[in-house]
Amino acid sequence: MKAKIRKGDIVEIISGSFEDKGKRGEVIKVSPKKDRVTVQGVSIRKKHQSQVQTQGRSMNPGIIEFEGPVHISNVMLVCPNCDETTRVGIQRDEDGLPQRVCKRCGKLID
Ligand SMILES: [Zn+2]
Repeated sequence: MKAKIRKGDIVEIISGSFEDKGKRGEVIKVSPKKDRVTVQGVSIRKKHQSQVQTQGRSMNPGIIEFEGPVHISNVMLVCPNCDETTRVGIQRDEDGLPQRVCKRCGKLID
């Protein structure tokens, strides 16, 4: 499957955990081999950091928040033209290069 979702795209969470469903965010990382994307502000996980030594000084332990990966089937691209979640079509331009097209409004996504 071709990667139809790229870094920098806005996606909406269409399934998954209750608190994330319906959220929109920017894709900050794509892992094509795992079919997973990381979306800003979605699937927040907390990690307790134990005390760390930095240049001889110990820092206070804290909680780090970070986004966890989301399976690509749980997200849908939000079209920048019509602001709706959409399926992505592939259309070739004059040079034969594939371009992504919104199946709702028919406009190019890139
Ligand atoms: Zn559209």
